[in-house]
Amino acid sequence: MRVLVINSGSSSIKYKLFQMPKEDVISKGLIEKIGESGSKIRDHYTGLKMILEKVDGVSVVGHRVVHGEEKFEKPVLIDNAVIREIRKCAAIAPLHNPANLAGILACKKLLPGIKQVAIFDTAFHQTLPDYAYIYGLPYEYYKKFGIRKYGFHGTSHEYVAHEAARILKKPIKELKIITCHLGNGCSITAVNKGKSCDTSMGFTPLEGLIMGTRCGDIDPALVTYIMKKKRLDIHQIDEVLNKESGLKGISGISNDMRVLEKKNKAGDMRARLALDVFSYRIKKYIGAYTAIMGGVDVLVFTAGIGENQARMREKICRGIFSYLKKKPDIMVIPTNEELMIARQAFRLIRR
Ligand code: ADP
Repeated sequence: MRVLVINSGSSSIKYKLFQMPKEDVISKGLIEKIGESGSKIRDHYTGLKMILEKVDGVSVVGHRVVHGEEKFEKPVLIDNAVIREIRKCAAIAPLHNPANLAGILACKKLLPGIKQVAIFDTAFHQTLPDYAYIYGLPYEYYKKFGIRKYGFHGTSHEYVAHEAARILKKPIKELKIITCHLGNGCSITAVNKGKSCDTSMGFTPLEGLIMGTRCGDIDPALVTYIMKKKRLDIHQIDEVLNKESGLKGISGISNDMRVLEKKNKAGDMRARLALDVFSYRIKKYIGAYTAIMGGVDVLVFTAGIGENQARMREKICRGIFSYLKKKPDIMVIPTNEELMIARQAFRLIRR
């Protein structure tokens, strides 16, 4: 059975075609600049048409969907009711869900009769206990507006946690795992007995760790303070927190860890500071997640920085487990969200 995995973003579509259950990658690619001025690719429909000309024999399509609120804790077969729900979730994921949905609707038109499955970034974190996902805000905001921690990168955290257990030849149900997904977006998850029990991203992917351009945890009072000081409107403050902050904001140089490493070596003080703040925040979360699970057996690093930046991994790990009698295994596991989506879509259809 051939499963086509689609990751449809606002101006790009990534795809990978898998032969299942062998998990061989038959083809893959990226369509960019969708809807941008001067681009031949007007919309997602045109982009997907180009992809479908390059692949054949598709039996199932697996779509990455960023936000599933509390409605989706598992992959689901897409029908009109699911499409309506994904559209509703766009109210709290305006940057992502509409683009994901555009990919789904284009596939529906172009591949009539072919089953489509939605796999949600938030689904793995639906096992968080209420005391981990409720914010210290009026409780009715949760009930009325769905304001709570959701967490993201779920497919990646789930994949690397299972890979860690497989490599160690131990049942995941017996392991306390901390997974660090460090890419442009960064998040960290405590996986106890195979279940996500806390994660650093929140209602949106802005909370938690310092990221390439996102600020992560800050004093919430700063939002209005900065708005007043800099005379920013809602849109502008959103841009500052999401696009002008993090590694880029602190260093004033770049959001790219490779550039910052080089600048740091050359003695740049702000590059050094950005790297220190980045690693310090991760250390704090690792300590917190070790405490809430009552220990840690495995620490996993994944994604661009996690997989490639040995110096950063070393900086994060230095001294953090010195107080533990039994030291955890520390692993680097390349993430493979597409494969996880293909597996989940395949499993659902086979059932
Ligand atoms: P995204 O979240 O956009 O998928 P990535 O997972 O590619 O991003 O991560 C981007 C970050 O990873 C950047 O800070 C970059 O410096 C770092 N990175 C990516 N590839 C490498 C590499 N081969 N060597 C060192 N650092 C890398």
